[in-house]
Amino acid sequence: MNINAYAAMKAKNLLEEFNYTPSGLGPRDLEVKITHCGICHSDVHLIDDDWGISAYPLVPGHEIVGTVTALGAEAGNFQIGQRVGIGWQRSACLTCEYCVRGEENLCPDNTATCVGHFGGFAESIRTDSRFVFPIPGELASENAAPLLCGGITVFSPLVHCAGHGPLRVGILGIGGLGHLAIQFARALGHRVTAFSTSPGKEKEALDLGAHHFIVTGGPAVFRGLASSFDLLLTTSPADLDWKVYLDLLRPGGKLCFVGVPSKPAVIPVFALIAGKKSVCGSPIGSRTDMSAMLSFAALNGIKAKTEVFAMSQVNEALDRVRHNRARYRIVLKN
Ligand code: NAP
Ligand code: ZN
Repeated sequence: MNINAYAAMKAKNLLEEFNYTPSGLGPRDLEVKITHCGICHSDVHLIDDDWGISAYPLVPGHEIVGTVTALGAEAGNFQIGQRVGIGWQRSACLTCEYCVRGEENLCPDNTATCVGHFGGFAESIRTDSRFVFPIPGELASENAAPLLCGGITVFSPLVHCAGHGPLRVGILGIGGLGHLAIQFARALGHRVTAFSTSPGKEKEALDLGAHHFIVTGGPAVFRGLASSFDLLLTTSPADLDWKVYLDLLRPGGKLCFVGVPSKPAVIPVFALIAGKKSVCGSPIGSRTDMSAMLSFAALNGIKAKTEVFAMSQVNEALDRVRHNRARYRIVLKN
């Protein structure tokens, strides 16, 4: 069996047609025929080797929806033809203290769907069934695919960092992750402010559930906002002036990074101490959170706003993501 895919052969290259022979189907593995795959900004970071972890040929793609076409002898919870989703995490040891307490996303031995493995910009994938999730019937595949990484990555810190609402939550960067974060934060009962560099996103951000919309830029826009937020969730890959955002936190507030800026963040420690503020990061989410997030999205009508491109248009689609033109997630379709 050969799988047709799109791969970057070197860092920062355009993707090209590529095919590979997958390893044999292990007892716990599933083979999934991919119908949809979202483009996350992490795919761009991986193609460019921004994190120094990329292996080439690199087949990106970790927001996968498709149907089960084959299953190993011990993958019996799934059925042929079932619609399923696959996110960033491919496996974990499932025996360490983090796995045992249900935080597989913190497992030191975790592996990723498209790091050292061929990902979802492809017609099929073979992967560990224990990190494959049924997709609720209410969610259309193109709207569900971005939930598998973008959705879980914002849902998890909103649930675990925010504590009980209603809180004043700010979402920085209204892209793939950010537009989902607005919807989840609103549905979780918080007062939501969207911070964006794009004035043209205001109406849609308000329609998605934001109570306020702030166009970032000069320092003047933050006047009057000091000590206003309990949680600032930053999805932006940009290097920002983090001190300005720390000042916006109320005492006890948190600045939580899910977006990955390229430079180390400069944090004034005195401001942290004086206001008992904290800075944290959050990686994707556990399997329990993934299932809860999918159910919560289905129940609350949360869905990604998508632009659908044919898989063969992958380079055109990536160019839109690189230039912040996607509204708000591009999904590749086979
Ligand atoms: P995206 O769709 O490209 O959205 C990023 C948004 O950030 C943009 O729409 C833009 O929003 C804002 N932005 C401001 N300055 C920017 C700049 N210089 N370059 C690009 N965007 C800029 O990206 P995404 O898929 O949401 O991913 C965002 C970040 O999260 C990436 O760094 C990605 O690697 C990371 N990520 C982390 C995890 C995790 O587990 N922690 C999981 C998935 C993704 P405005 O137009 O509103 O300013
Ligand atoms: Zn991602």
